[in-house]
Amino acid sequence: MTVTVQAVPMFSDNYAWLLRDSGTGAVGIVDPADAGAVIAAIDADGGRLDTIFLTHHHGDHVAGTDEVRQRYGARVVGAAADAHRLPRLDLAVAEGDTVPFGGTTAHVIDTPGHTRGHIAFYIPDGEVLLCGDTLFSLGCGRLLEGTAGEMFASLHKLAALPGAALVCCGHEYTQSNARFALTVEPDNLALRTRAAQVDRLRAYGDRTVPSRLQAEMAENPFLRAQDAVRLGEIRAAKDRF
Ligand code: ZN
Ligand code: FE
Repeated sequence: MTVTVQAVPMFSDNYAWLLRDSGTGAVGIVDPADAGAVIAAIDADGGRLDTIFLTHHHGDHVAGTDEVRQRYGARVVGAAADAHRLPRLDLAVAEGDTVPFGGTTAHVIDTPGHTRGHIAFYIPDGEVLLCGDTLFSLGCGRLLEGTAGEMFASLHKLAALPGAALVCCGHEYTQSNARFALTVEPDNLALRTRAAQVDRLRAYGDRTVPSRLQAEMAENPFLRAQDAVRLGEIRAAKDRF
């Protein structure tokens, strides 16, 4: 029994993620902001939706939630800490909670930094990490409501997950992240190889995600920052980049 993921592109650079539990046929969607794009993907997959997972309250992640919920009768899971500014939740969760999904479970990880109530979900069956705007491929989210210390702690919780974990993030930002990352670690060979691969993919308009966590550990300067001060410096430099 395992969970597989499929990216659903939305707007200019967002991704929702379609989850399928092979054992039970249960289907989930993460951050269904564009109801039209998400409904098309779900209907093409058989028209079943059990669970809607929300990583954080920003409109480019949650805007389509109520329409998608109504159409399929799915239940909505999101952060208890942000229940006041998320769509109506059926299950309000926090660090350490587990969410039943089909025959398996998703683990909730609090990841403040981008927003105060940001959460990530990790599904051990399939090694799927749904990290919203906390960890991007070769980057991390902007510190809109949190400190560098909070983001550092959040990234390091994610870094402790198995290296094979699939990093399913909220945006296709990898190419611009790669350009910036090369200014931080110009001699990182793994990063240089990856950046060239990303350029080739984007030249054809192809996706660059999900990546594997172990690759991010070798190539992502935000995950590689030794402490919160350094992470803050890199994040500030990226904001100006
Ligand atoms: Zn966001
Ligand atoms: Fe976003």
